[in-house]
Amino acid sequence: MAKRRTEIGDDLYHYMIEFGTRESDAARGLRAATAPLAEARMQISPLQGAFLSMIAASIGAKRCIEVGVFTGYSALAVARVLPEDGLLVACDISDEWTSVGVPYWDQAGVAERIDLRLAPATETLRALLDDGQAGTFDFAFIDADKENYEAYYELCLQLIRVGGLIAVDNVLWGGDVLDPTDTSQSTVSIVAFNEARRDDQRIDLSIVPIGDGVSLLRKR
Ligand code: CA
Repeated sequence: MAKRRTEIGDDLYHYMIEFGTRESDAARGLRAATAPLAEARMQISPLQGAFLSMIAASIGAKRCIEVGVFTGYSALAVARVLPEDGLLVACDISDEWTSVGVPYWDQAGVAERIDLRLAPATETLRALLDDGQAGTFDFAFIDADKENYEAYYELCLQLIRVGGLIAVDNVLWGGDVLDPTDTSQSTVSIVAFNEARRDDQRIDLSIVPIGDGVSLLRKR
């Protein structure tokens, strides 16, 4: 078994950002606007942004879902690779946080493609299903309250087409998934989510060690 791997310290991390991302002015501005917030660490990294842009573009995504917008960096990353008539249904419950991102969506010229829904995501996703939109989305990114990951996943799986992708953030949870004594709700939920996906025959899967771990799930 190949053991070789590269430990990513701060210097290599910054190297990857310098040579592995092309952050737009809008994205850079949004990152700067988010930095002062106490919750800034909830923002995905530029590397993750580049990764989301790449996979959404690679499958020719036109209709996308985001569960957990925060200040809108990941929405910007996905929306910017959609066609003019593309759609990103962006689900969040915080007007305060999402409002930070809207001017940068405008600056990037993608605001028209982003349909921000301020409501519990389960309600928004169920409404899409009730509206007959099952199987009509190409890509979903889930990065919200961990307790509801299973519910978000099940709804997104119905909404995306065969061959579509669901990306799920924080599946390594800072390494806490290895700690059986950690009984916090978030950790227990992520551990259960990962265990359920391993044997889930409705999808192909790959955990990518970018950021705090992203599961890529492809609908069969
Ligand atoms: Ca996250």
